[in-house]
Amino acid sequence: MGLKEDKTVPGREDRVEACMAHGGCASGIGKQDKICLKNSERGFSQAGLCQLLPTLGMLLTLPETAVIVHGAIGCGSAGFGMNTSIRLHHLLRGNPNAKDSLWFTTNLDESDVVHGGEQRLEETILTVNERYRPKSIIVMQTCTPSIIGDDLVGVIEKVRPLIDTPLLYSHCEGFKTKVWATGYDVAFHAMVHGFIEKDKEGPPPRKAGRKPGERPIVNVINLASMGKPDEVEIERLLNAIGIDVLIGPNFGDREKIRQMTQADLTVSVCPTHDDYFVDYLHTEYGIPFVLRDMPIGLANTRNWLLDIARNFDLEKEALALIEQEEAKARKAVERYLPALKDIRVFLSAGEFRAVVTGGLFQELGMEIVGLRSYHHDDFGTEFYARLVQAQEGKDFPVDIANFQPFELVNLLKRVKPDLFCGHVFDNAWAARLGFPTITIFRIFDYYVGYRGYYEVAKKAVRNLRNHAFNTKLSQNVQGAYKKEWYEEDPFKYIKTDAPSAQDPETAAA
Ligand code: SF4
Repeated sequence: MGLKEDKTVPGREDRVEACMAHGGCASGIGKQDKICLKNSERGFSQAGLCQLLPTLGMLLTLPETAVIVHGAIGCGSAGFGMNTSIRLHHLLRGNPNAKDSLWFTTNLDESDVVHGGEQRLEETILTVNERYRPKSIIVMQTCTPSIIGDDLVGVIEKVRPLIDTPLLYSHCEGFKTKVWATGYDVAFHAMVHGFIEKDKEGPPPRKAGRKPGERPIVNVINLASMGKPDEVEIERLLNAIGIDVLIGPNFGDREKIRQMTQADLTVSVCPTHDDYFVDYLHTEYGIPFVLRDMPIGLANTRNWLLDIARNFDLEKEALALIEQEEAKARKAVERYLPALKDIRVFLSAGEFRAVVTGGLFQELGMEIVGLRSYHHDDFGTEFYARLVQAQEGKDFPVDIANFQPFELVNLLKRVKPDLFCGHVFDNAWAARLGFPTITIFRIFDYYVGYRGYYEVAKKAVRNLRNHAFNTKLSQNVQGAYKKEWYEEDPFKYIKTDAPSAQDPETAAA
């Protein structure tokens, strides 16, 4: 099976053996026989994320699109919160007049649950098309209509010939998977089926080979992995070695997504996000791919650029650029190094971003003392061992958790890092405990490539020098949990078939 044949998207538990619950040490990842497979569970869970949320976040970026959430009204309410971020993205892309994204809900109630919601969905699609004339319409099927047996694909096939607007659909019922990252696959599935496979013009034909002397064109997949500044950095680097770039599908439209079938190479910026789409372009259009690294930190950026250049015999040009850029970046961060030396960092983010950012911090002379990843799959495995090796075997605790702040704060109290680096909602927990914090990703910051290397160093030093706000916050807010919880093993509620999780304090020693 693959993206083209899949009618519904398989959960990542099945497709890439991803897991959401594990507590142990970095050196153990990839070694224990049955680590983190489907049988890992929590006896108590404080938080979670439905796959609908990342799917909605991705699909709302398509310009002038309308998203119809088919289900109870609560399912789509996150669409409101996403308007701020989508507008900011548009602003950074030079589009100050961008409107709020359009989202609708079929608002199913008790009566619909008895009588079915197909007719309501059909009417909603036709009304949205008539009133708003969007460039595309996306229907997202949630738990309720799937439980009552609404035939989403049947409705789509009935309505498609009645309207000119491309119609995309996605099955993103939260009950189908615990691995929220499946939502990225669902978003790709919707775009590929709606804009390519089931498009009125049919899939574009494969392009003929490149003519001699023609510059190669590379797809750089951005599915929420980068803000505009990072796109600029990626484009700068690839253009400098003679490669043209097509960045999508976020903020792309039908034409751009169809254009991506004509590239000479597909490059991932985050394997966790991209592999489903990369595989489609490879299988259906024969486009080779690079799906290994994230260009964060000097070593990873070097590997990433060389992997791409190798496809076009441009290694010499890439090496010359790397030498020049590395020298400039090293010189630029020189003044920050004394303040960063031996600083103990705790990371929290999606797995791939967390592990490669760990490499960047080590290049700046810092030590990784803990890592919380939102899920685990095979793409990240080798990077844990690399982090341990780079600090001469000094191990650290790893928490694989779909958020679960009670595990995080327990770990932080034990590990006591000098700096916490996570997404903004993680940082709030660390800030309450008084630790200096920096955000691991914001859409207006440079994070990738050489600009990113410099900016992260600068940001870390600034926050280490002045974190009075977090200190005062910790003195003036109550702890979120009873003190007894901090005496317990942070991984107490993780149930697994694997050998029992190692005590995090032993792992950190
Ligand atoms: S889990 Fe189901 S009901 Fe809950 S928000 Fe997700 S799709 Fe809606």
